[in-house]
Amino acid sequence: MNPFLQAYNTVFETAPFEEIKEEHFLPALKEAIALGKKEVEDITSNQAEPTFENTIEALEASGEMVTRVAEVFYNLNSAETNDEIQKIARDFSPQLTEYGNDIMLNAALFERVKAVYEDDQSALNEEQKMLLQKTYRGFMRNGANLSDEDKDKLRAIDNELSGLSLHFGENVLAETNDFELVIDNEADLEGLPEGIIEAAAETAAEKGKEGKWVFTLQYPSYIPFVTYSQKRELREKMTKAFGSRANKVNDYNNTEILKRIATLRYQRAQLLGFENHAEYTLQERMAEHPDKVKTFLNDILEAGKPAGIKEVEELTAYAKKNGGPSEIKKWDFSFYSEKLKQEKFQIDDDMLKPYFKLEDVIDGSFKVAELLYGITFHERKDIQKYHKDVITYEVKDAQDNHLAVFYADFFPREGKRNGAWMTSYRSQKKVAGVDIRPHISIVCNFTKPTKTKPSLLTFQEVTTLFHEFGHALHGIMASGTYASLSGTNVFWDFVELPSQVMENWCYEKECLDLFARHYETGEKIPAEMVERLKASASFMEGYATVRQVGLATLDMAWHATNPENVKDVNAYENEVLKETELLPRVEGSNTSTAFSHIFQGGYSAGYYSYKWAEVLDADAFEYFLEEGIFNENVATRFKKLISAGGTVHPAKLYREFRGRDADPKALLRRAGLLTENAEA
Ligand SMILES: [Zn+2]
Repeated sequence: MNPFLQAYNTVFETAPFEEIKEEHFLPALKEAIALGKKEVEDITSNQAEPTFENTIEALEASGEMVTRVAEVFYNLNSAETNDEIQKIARDFSPQLTEYGNDIMLNAALFERVKAVYEDDQSALNEEQKMLLQKTYRGFMRNGANLSDEDKDKLRAIDNELSGLSLHFGENVLAETNDFELVIDNEADLEGLPEGIIEAAAETAAEKGKEGKWVFTLQYPSYIPFVTYSQKRELREKMTKAFGSRANKVNDYNNTEILKRIATLRYQRAQLLGFENHAEYTLQERMAEHPDKVKTFLNDILEAGKPAGIKEVEELTAYAKKNGGPSEIKKWDFSFYSEKLKQEKFQIDDDMLKPYFKLEDVIDGSFKVAELLYGITFHERKDIQKYHKDVITYEVKDAQDNHLAVFYADFFPREGKRNGAWMTSYRSQKKVAGVDIRPHISIVCNFTKPTKTKPSLLTFQEVTTLFHEFGHALHGIMASGTYASLSGTNVFWDFVELPSQVMENWCYEKECLDLFARHYETGEKIPAEMVERLKASASFMEGYATVRQVGLATLDMAWHATNPENVKDVNAYENEVLKETELLPRVEGSNTSTAFSHIFQGGYSAGYYSYKWAEVLDADAFEYFLEEGIFNENVATRFKKLISAGGTVHPAKLYREFRGRDADPKALLRRAGLLTENAEA
């Protein structure tokens, strides 16, 4: 008996983890795919005229069993994996991809979707229109409407692109691994923390250089080195090596590769009827169009640059006073800003941790949700789990009705990947008028309790928990009709609003007093400590903002234009970054050649979204600050925004919440970088 292939006979129909064995996955997937294909065939062979119900809604409902198996499988592969599951993944993933491709390339299916799209839509409600548009665009963006010849061109471009992205990443990796800084004189370690020195000694031993210390361009080695090393010439050496990756005259140079990637993306977009790659990408984003992104970036730059310049001046004065250089170079920035930060705020993890016992922080996040939205969390011991460390809850609404199942999995272990994330085992949707409630999970890697000490979180872990909890609330409070538009299924530059906004509560005394108590004395966290914490969080924010705007501008420069005209990658980048470089540019350095986010990963024409989401969360929280951080009216409006998921365009949704568009300056106001006068 394969548990996936029958009704779940469990509390709230939760996944029957105790019955699920590894050998169930592939047979269940096979059967689920066959069923999904049959469901699609039923749509295409339908003799009746295509309608929203018999085509769009039917397609949305198809493949339910596939989703059920895939959700459990991928969640386990992230949170509780082993060799066997990883082996299964090598079969599982290609089958799933093929199933998806078969649907997207199904010409008969597209004919019906297109017919519904081109038909009169006036009888459809807003949510139905959204689903129709999403479905239709999905096919169109995949080339369903192209001639056979153009379809072939598209596939050829896609193939070349996937090879080039891999090649780009391999070059960055090779250049990152190629460099090492070998130190054999102990005096050259001056300033470095003990743990970093130990790690460097271990790296040296691994490389057969016993008794020496090796530093590399990997982040855990590079970042602490340039932050703490007293040796300016060594920081310079490291910074230059890092900045010139894949930009040197050797086999790993990425300039031609990245130009080719940008050019192919441009051609691909043109083939699909768009002006350029950014326009293609932004069609499915809250920002909608490259012009809007450019205006957005300009607004932030204009508002943030004076603050950034001031910060660099302050840092220069500080360095000079402490026997440093009279001009801050790239390799001085982290070093002096870390020193200045320590001096100014005198705050570190060890001071804060005693106030953040894990159980208290969880409790605190639940209280915040209750105060804002009236929902409550009740631990349940009768819900099956995939590991004994997982805690399971039933979530109830203000009227005590069942709202969701919530899984929380906090501690690291073998078989769990790094980081923190939110996921779901069942999406919310409505079937024949019945509201199917979601099963939501958050997975983290927090400090474990010991025999003598409870789990005490760093402040960053506290904000991480609130962040993931914010994503969870997005899922828990979903109230859509269609799973693919429900909960966190929203545009990509909007999905971080519900999570990031939650982090703001962690800096408010009124909120911290609900739960942040010293685990030994029970004393509340001191107000002045909270103030310092808040101030230190926005330290050098002007500089950081300008830097982020620079990276986003560079991304747009490659993707919102025709890159065929670019001759010299270095000269082009220098020109593009002219307005956003607050420190002198380093000869031989190039950002584009190692900009893996946009040339290897999925952030092309999307780097702006980091700042975009921050603006949204700062602007949204400003509304709470104006009316009270637990104000019922604002909370009710925000709940409406969260519950809507992707059923309404996010720009419209946000306007309904705030009464206007988000103000880019909210971000700098939160950081205290704008006074009323400076704004006028
Ligand atoms: Zn997130």
